[in-house]
Amino acid sequence: MKIQTIMVVGAGQMGGGIAQTAATAGFTVYLNDISEELVKKGTEAISASLDRMVKKEKISDADKSAILERITPVTGLEKTAECDLVVEAAVESMEIKAKIFAELDRLAPKHAILASNTSSLPITGIAAHTSRPEKVIGMHFMNPVPVMKLVEIINGLATDPDVTQTVRDCATAMGKTPVECRDVPGFVSNRVLMVMLNEALWELYEGVATAEGIDTIMKLGMNHPMGPLALADLIGLDTVLAILEVLQDGYGDPKYRPCPLLKSYVSAGWLGRKTGKGIYDYR
Ligand code: NAD
Repeated sequence: MKIQTIMVVGAGQMGGGIAQTAATAGFTVYLNDISEELVKKGTEAISASLDRMVKKEKISDADKSAILERITPVTGLEKTAECDLVVEAAVESMEIKAKIFAELDRLAPKHAILASNTSSLPITGIAAHTSRPEKVIGMHFMNPVPVMKLVEIINGLATDPDVTQTVRDCATAMGKTPVECRDVPGFVSNRVLMVMLNEALWELYEGVATAEGIDTIMKLGMNHPMGPLALADLIGLDTVLAILEVLQDGYGDPKYRPCPLLKSYVSAGWLGRKTGKGIYDYR
């Protein structure tokens, strides 16, 4: 099967990036969120991101208009009936994803593949909320989506190998490199990454060094392009906490216990770049 039309559910930083990347690759895209205001915010962010690309002369003004024309903002999921692939990028909550997948399963044509961009939640568990677990898969894009090359492809217990191949081909068509892994909590990427981010938060909590100090040590010492605390702010501290909780719950190992400082920041609504304040202040 060849993918032509894609529904992206959730117009936040990941959903917007996925919609932009898919439309840039020539796919027809519907971009969904729960309100007019949120879909508008999502499309404005895409437009601003494309403006930056025009400024850098990576695309022309005409390219920008053509890309935006391929993206239709929607507040309902009815247009899923026209789609070959859905990429869900709503918040990292099993309760919310379960409801979305049950609805998508009801609306999507029989041939359609239902993918989740979840950072850590079990694909097999998400698939259990549909009548087509063989067509459910993890399609884990990295942040910022237009820039980052990897798509981690997660095969649930029931995922059909033909579905995996179709999704690999689709990721390649978007200019990405797909790499497969099994459905374990945190997959490959976040099982490794979150331990590092959490440890950096513990260091900050214990006063081992300042945030800038910790990030500079990791950037200059380990050749990381970004320090762990700045990266946690970019990902979103609420998402970091949700992933750590999935890891802690999934493996039952105390090494994943979230740092109390992370929990306080999230309860204060200091979620990182997306709210203007996290470990660092962006206001
Ligand atoms: P975000 O908070 O920026 O955006 C989430 C969006 O989902 C919001 O606009 C919200 O209104 C919307 N939403 C909530 N419920 C919805 C529903 N029922 N239907 C449609 N939309 C709904 O979050 P994000 O960083 O874009 O993360 C989205 C998903 O991508 C999460 O599962 C996250 O774990 C995953 N992810 C995040 C990153 C990252 O670096 N932030 C990287 C890879 C994967």
